[in-house]
Amino acid sequence: MISAPRTAGGAMPAAGPLVDSFGRVHTDLRISVTDRCNLRCVYCMPEEGLPWIDKREILTYEEIAEIVRAAAKVGVRSIRLTGGEPLIRKDLKRLVSMLSAIPGIDDIALSTNGLLLAEQVQGLVDAGLKRANISLDTLREDRFEAIARRPGLQRVLDGIDAAVAAGLGPIKLNCVVMRGQNDDEVQAFAEMTRDRAVAVRFIEVMPVHENVDGHTNQYISATEILDRIRANGDLQPVEGPKGNGPARYYAFDGAAGSVGVISPLSHDYCDTCNRVRLSADGRLKLCLFGDHFIDLRTPIRDRAGEEALIAILRGSMYVKPERHHLDVGQTASAMRALSEIGG
Ligand code: SAM
Ligand code: SF4
Repeated sequence: MISAPRTAGGAMPAAGPLVDSFGRVHTDLRISVTDRCNLRCVYCMPEEGLPWIDKREILTYEEIAEIVRAAAKVGVRSIRLTGGEPLIRKDLKRLVSMLSAIPGIDDIALSTNGLLLAEQVQGLVDAGLKRANISLDTLREDRFEAIARRPGLQRVLDGIDAAVAAGLGPIKLNCVVMRGQNDDEVQAFAEMTRDRAVAVRFIEVMPVHENVDGHTNQYISATEILDRIRANGDLQPVEGPKGNGPARYYAFDGAAGSVGVISPLSHDYCDTCNRVRLSADGRLKLCLFGDHFIDLRTPIRDRAGEEALIAILRGSMYVKPERHHLDVGQTASAMRALSEIGG
């Protein structure tokens, strides 16, 4: 664990936002509430699952809220709940309600595979959920089963409809594009945005777990994805929906929705990174692709108190790297990656 930074005179630094050594102000916290999942997407985790974190090591909702209260005091304003699959954690709406009551937190969003969304979305919205990103890699059931290794396309589509009906907006659909698996659906996804007010975001597949070896063959750059969509019509850059994501957005002329690309590998978005991540077992991760972890569970369970937590959060800013150095085809097996710390 790192210790809190001190000024030359030995005093704690003055209050203020979380600013790292490169001047980036951090206002966004992504919280993984579980490492477990009810799907097994080929690009994310092995079919047999992962060596799951012991349940006793997973932060309770009270512990998460304590961290968020401290983070809010140093300028964190938006929270994204992710996983694993956050909706399999029992009574997630209780956490949403606890977090939305924290002064300073003005935006709570969810990243989900959508399977359990239809039955939970109203309770989550009532508790204070504002936005949702829903993963959808294909519009074909046979492919859904091949990619997610479990059935469920219709349940996801029902979840999307339920989210719109519950007033969640803007809805963002996240589609991981893989050559030879679903890349021929890119245009169909983009066409949806002409009359539906959704943002479809195409994500370059990243090398994680099992897909590391095949990654070079599967990888399609955001530039190629956009070129394919442009074959169907002119795309103009647009501002994109509200959110703290790293996507660049475009739209067809007169379209109700937009198309976004997230290109962690080909287009470095590190310059504007404003987020830190909290793993399900209470480690703060400063960069998605690095090994820069800081333990927050120990101080929480040792009842270190809010000032100590704030000092650790501040200290973490000195550890944050300027950028990641992951390249296409490069192995990133060292990271338990997205399944643990969330996307
Ligand atoms: N289970 C939820 C879901 O699927 O939306 C939340 C967690 S998931 C790890 C968050 C996002 O990461 C999803 O949009 C997913 O598609 C994306 N993701 C997972 N593994 C990826 C990979 N290897 N490359 C690119 N995106 C990935
Ligand atoms: Fe589960 Fe999301 Fe990973 Fe798919 S991407 S296996 S839904 S955590």
